[in-house]
Amino acid sequence: MNLESLYQDIILDHYKHPRGKGLLENPLASAFHVNPTCGDEITVQVGRNEAGGLVIGYEGQGCSISQASASVLVELLQGRSIQESEEVRLAFLELMHSKGSGDPDEEVLGDAVAFAGVAKFPARVKCALLAWMALQDAEIQAGLLKTGEGA
Ligand code: ZN
Repeated sequence: MNLESLYQDIILDHYKHPRGKGLLENPLASAFHVNPTCGDEITVQVGRNEAGGLVIGYEGQGCSISQASASVLVELLQGRSIQESEEVRLAFLELMHSKGSGDPDEEVLGDAVAFAGVAKFPARVKCALLAWMALQDAEIQAGLLKTGEGA
């Protein structure tokens, strides 16, 4: 199996079996983002657990890339500190802006490395980034992040 088809399998697996999908009972903030070029929709909610870690909920509909990306996001960032989650989010942004020439670090990005191939297709980059932009928005609204960081 080559890398490309392995990556496709990872994305399809997250699409068919989304991790942590569902909304939170008491979110600090919610952000609803749409990707009009593809018709993707995502709502990302954030809260914090007793240890100060990030709690993330989401709902959405759209193409396999947008929805799988949200599932990967939750799998990677659920329970992590704000600082850790920012490191991962910025690494993912960098990968998606690499136009396919990125060399993703699987230790940092986990299953998100599967989107490396997507970075070659500008129209699909928006799909892959949708949930991550919504997360940033929700974190800013919740006062967990300052505006202007990253992106
Ligand atoms: Zn899409």
